[in-house]
Amino acid sequence: METEKKITRVGGNSPAEEPVRSIFVANPESKKRATKHRVFAGSLWLLAIGAQLFAITLLFRPPIDMTLIIILIAVDLALAIIGSILWKSSNRYDPPTKKQKFKFFMKSQLGLVVAVIAFLPLIIVILTNKNLSGKQKGILGGIAGAALVIAGLVGVDFNPPSIEEYTEQTERVEWLNEGRNFVYWTKSGTVYHIYSDCSYINTNKTSEIFEGTVAQARELKNITELCSRCESRAMQERGLTEEDYHNAQQGIKELIDPNTQGEQ
Ligand SMILES: [Zn+2]
Repeated sequence: METEKKITRVGGNSPAEEPVRSIFVANPESKKRATKHRVFAGSLWLLAIGAQLFAITLLFRPPIDMTLIIILIAVDLALAIIGSILWKSSNRYDPPTKKQKFKFFMKSQLGLVVAVIAFLPLIIVILTNKNLSGKQKGILGGIAGAALVIAGLVGVDFNPPSIEEYTEQTERVEWLNEGRNFVYWTKSGTVYHIYSDCSYINTNKTSEIFEGTVAQARELKNITELCSRCESRAMQERGLTEEDYHNAQQGIKELIDPNTQGEQ
């Protein structure tokens, strides 16, 4: 049974030709894209901090222009948010390893850390400033506080990608899919599928199906889940059991066990 929908192969190397039999490594193209996003994110974050520093200097030079400071907070927020979105996407292209917990936290949640750096000093200066009236402190402090919360929420990655997770998910798909790291997804989908004719994606609503590797589904759409219908279908059709999987995974489990020490 083949689907009649238009299937779009996403860019990059041919997925079927590179089965991951070891720990996941981002391909050079993804790494390049990740670096680009990281550099761009870093530049925007520096500009955000610059906007904050400018606002801080203005607070020490009365008379204080409230409007200008509010505009600078808005600029700071916009730059921090775009930077965080880029940063999080860079981690999907080139995920960090979980083996070093502090490094993993910093790489995954850098957007949150930057949100604090980009707003907290300003909030402290506003609240302790002698050039501001109580009312002005309330207004500016409230706006800067709200900006910190928004930037922080955008900066947090609630489901941070990791090399270990990519490895596990790829292994699972290859095990179910006769060694092929090949999945399908739709534009609005939240899961990837093993079968292009899965009834979830073969509805009248779907006009286009994308195909690629597990990593590509994550890179492009942030899809992290395998379709449960495809999963049970593959197991049934190929006579696979969870026990087989457990046995097949012994080698890889050691590689991705967060308790073993990484070389990097
Ligand atoms: Zn499915």
